[in-house]
Amino acid sequence: MKKVRTRYAPSPTGFMHVGNLRTALYEYLIAKSQGGDFVLRIEDTDQERYVEGAVDVIYRTLKTAGLKHDEGPDIGGDFGPYVQSERKDLYLPYAEELIKKGHAYRCFCTKERLDALKNTEEFANGGYDRHCRNLPQEEIDKLLAEGTPYVIRQKMPIDGTTTFVDKVFGEITAPNSELQDQILIKTDGYPTYNFANVIDDHLMGITHVVRGNEYLSSTPKYNLLYEAFGWEIPVYVHLPLIMGKDENGDISKLSKRHGSTGFDDLIAEGYLPQAIINYIALLGWCPDSNNEMFTLAELEKEFSVDRISKSPAVFDYAKLEWFNGEYIKSMTVEDFEKIARPFIRQAIGDKPLDTLKIAQILQQRTTKLTQIPEVIDFFAELPEYDAEMFINKKSKTNAENAPVMLKAAYDELKSLPEWTNQSIHDSLIGLAEKLAVKNGTVMWPVRISAAGKKVTPGGAVEILDILGREESLSRIEKGLEKLK
Ligand code: GLU
Repeated sequence: MKKVRTRYAPSPTGFMHVGNLRTALYEYLIAKSQGGDFVLRIEDTDQERYVEGAVDVIYRTLKTAGLKHDEGPDIGGDFGPYVQSERKDLYLPYAEELIKKGHAYRCFCTKERLDALKNTEEFANGGYDRHCRNLPQEEIDKLLAEGTPYVIRQKMPIDGTTTFVDKVFGEITAPNSELQDQILIKTDGYPTYNFANVIDDHLMGITHVVRGNEYLSSTPKYNLLYEAFGWEIPVYVHLPLIMGKDENGDISKLSKRHGSTGFDDLIAEGYLPQAIINYIALLGWCPDSNNEMFTLAELEKEFSVDRISKSPAVFDYAKLEWFNGEYIKSMTVEDFEKIARPFIRQAIGDKPLDTLKIAQILQQRTTKLTQIPEVIDFFAELPEYDAEMFINKKSKTNAENAPVMLKAAYDELKSLPEWTNQSIHDSLIGLAEKLAVKNGTVMWPVRISAAGKKVTPGGAVEILDILGREESLSRIEKGLEKLK
């Protein structure tokens, strides 16, 4: 059996949409699940759309996502070059071969003529009237001798149908009469995507072509090219659209108004690459089991084309956030601290606080890293707060006992010989016992005075431990002042 080879063939636009990333992921998984190769090819034949630095975005995304390619512009391989603009001269001879075989022709139509066509009813929406399809050879020779610019067009069959099988969408038949005589080589000598993708996929030995279903309608044209050359047609795997949920409950193609659609934007919003990958693996593919959590290595084993669905997948940000929370919870606290540190520092600046301890109280409740600064802002500075906050029914604190509890706690804490989580804990619990009150009756006022907030990550003990003796006592003094 032939070795499976897939290719990810992005156009360098400078932006990695989650749909593109899913395509890359599925190509990677289809290759890896069958011991195959995953190839990266940069499709930059559309020079007008060239964006500076865009190729780096592609490399960086694949690297961050863990999708290691086996061949590509940066690492080479036996089928290079892997950038289409560097392959420029290779396409024309193939187009000329098609002309010889009667499957393509030179079209000398001027821009003016083509523009005028658009004013006709038949070609108002584009298309070409096949004006140059049957030019007499003498005229072609004359135009060539005069150096008239031309494009090369594919000569589509006028009647009959073209049928092919897609692994996801099944058998598809298109009437040939609907196929335009599309351009294969432009006047600047560059191939169009429509031509280059076929030549490159063949020359690079690609066995599985995986891409968005917007290419489904063009596939008959590609197959006619494969047939004209007598080449083997690859396995097609067209992927369903990714949709977003509108405010009114309808679904429409995923776009900015639904939320972030770019990989970089999702990362900046605090999602982890592994969570994004896990989530988008499930956008169109359904595992054999009920399990939803998959590392990339597990996906490499589990993935199968047969379980890709053709119905549109809806991107659910809440679900992604759930995955993210699960990934965060499953990390070691040291690893979590590393990724959380920039967000912690955003809140506490360069204050000498122990970021590992802060990470510890955050880890179990964080579902997006960007939530962090807001929930720990009180470490940087005690916020303004109302004395009313000391009163809490559940902790059985009221206007009378709150000052008593806080003062007693203050005295205990002040006399502590060492300031550790354990010593703070033991002294406050011991105090509650001594006063015969619920732990909460002591802890609540202490925490309010230390944080100035009702909801905090961590309890009184953790917060005091992180703040340190001096700052803690000073905050409690302020609380006592407030309660006077
Ligand atoms: N360059 C095309 C794109 O970015 C690739 C389509 C394909 O995979 O064939 O959409």
